[in-house]
Amino acid sequence: MTHVFHRHLRQTPPVAVGSHGMFIRDAEGREYLDASGGAAVSSLGHAHPEVMAAMHAQIDRLAYAHTSFFTSEVAEQLADELIGSAPEGMSHVYLVSGGSEAVESALKMARQYFVEIGQPQRTHFIARRQSYHGNTLGALAVGGNAWRREPFAPILVPATHVSPCYPYREQHADESAEQYGLRLAAELEAAILAQGADRVIAFVAETVGGATAGVLTPVPGYFKAVRAVCDRYGVLLILDEVMCGMGRTGSLHACEQEGVVPDLMTVAKGLGGGYQPVGAVLAQRRIVEAMSKGSGFFQHGHTYLGHPMACAAALAVQQVMRRDGLVAKVREDGLAFGRMLADALGAHPHVGDIRGRGFFWGIELVVDRASKAPFDPALKVNATVKKDAMSRGLLCYPFGGTVDGRQGDHVLLAPPFIATRQDLQEIAARLAASIDAVTRAAA
Ligand code: PLP
Repeated sequence: MTHVFHRHLRQTPPVAVGSHGMFIRDAEGREYLDASGGAAVSSLGHAHPEVMAAMHAQIDRLAYAHTSFFTSEVAEQLADELIGSAPEGMSHVYLVSGGSEAVESALKMARQYFVEIGQPQRTHFIARRQSYHGNTLGALAVGGNAWRREPFAPILVPATHVSPCYPYREQHADESAEQYGLRLAAELEAAILAQGADRVIAFVAETVGGATAGVLTPVPGYFKAVRAVCDRYGVLLILDEVMCGMGRTGSLHACEQEGVVPDLMTVAKGLGGGYQPVGAVLAQRRIVEAMSKGSGFFQHGHTYLGHPMACAAALAVQQVMRRDGLVAKVREDGLAFGRMLADALGAHPHVGDIRGRGFFWGIELVVDRASKAPFDPALKVNATVKKDAMSRGLLCYPFGGTVDGRQGDHVLLAPPFIATRQDLQEIAARLAASIDAVTRAAA
């Protein structure tokens, strides 16, 4: 009998007792090859000696000091590290305990900015369908996954949702990728105008979509066009890089590959690589200055802001990543990984699409490649792939909701950046065996 409130209330998962490198071990002695870092969290793999040493050193020095009284050396160092490599114009880092907290903080920062500069009528957020920004109420309100929102919809702040950038399902046959991106930007513009151009706070988007539809990479020019639309109406651009950021797609920040700079950007997961719960909002100087010259106070906060242990872990993870050139490794090995997945699964009758960048890949499963019809949700194809993969000693991150947030299945792969080519090959082979077994049984 368990007293832990597990997600699945009628199941108790295996007990994890140890981990090293690419593997997690359970109490039965089974080892699992970690192909997804949980939900795209692990960047350096497990039990990295330098990160552990940095955490031990920090706990001996200072475990905790509340930010209404103190800052800490390690929080200052982490902020310096992040700003040193941040997109142009970013000057400050707000350090929190995870992705949802980062998104909540960014939403409130954006709103308070407009209050400070005398535009309090801006009260509305625009985001995208098929997006995920976290499970707290503000983040869920901007999130666009119908299934996750449904039970809570009556208690969410209103937000408008426009189309995601999802070429596999939504690009028209007679338009180029560039034309598709411009069509989406025009849809955003229409949504801003429908709301009233001076009433919108921000457009919120994952630079590369993650949890909801299985890695949605933007088409060329899409984010540049979105940036131009936001600028036209003084709407802020908040990019959520909680999952796709911090090296995951082969550049430190995914927005670098789009040639755009956001006003606010959220990061988490890969920031601390799973060693501690940590997230951050990176903010443009003009936003921070408006607040500092105005009220001088951000009317928000949490008990564990800038937690020294979290900062120590994140600082060590980021320093090792930089020293070992892991972002470049991800970029290069990511191309090889994409080829391995294409070889293992590209011709499979139930694999509709394989898409991704760096160490961030999504595989969309369908009943039929020609019609792109999804499997019946009652068959629980994605959950069965997860279970089957675990029985083969593989951890991957399957989820539903590729079609309208309710139907459809995908598998998300996000291996730690230390994965060797042999590890990547093994991941592709074991996953192909699972997908084959489960989809053939379901079809
Ligand atoms: N934003 C994105 C893009 C995410 O993928 C997630 C989590 O998967 C979150 C926010 C929420 O992060 P957390 O689960 O750390 O609260």
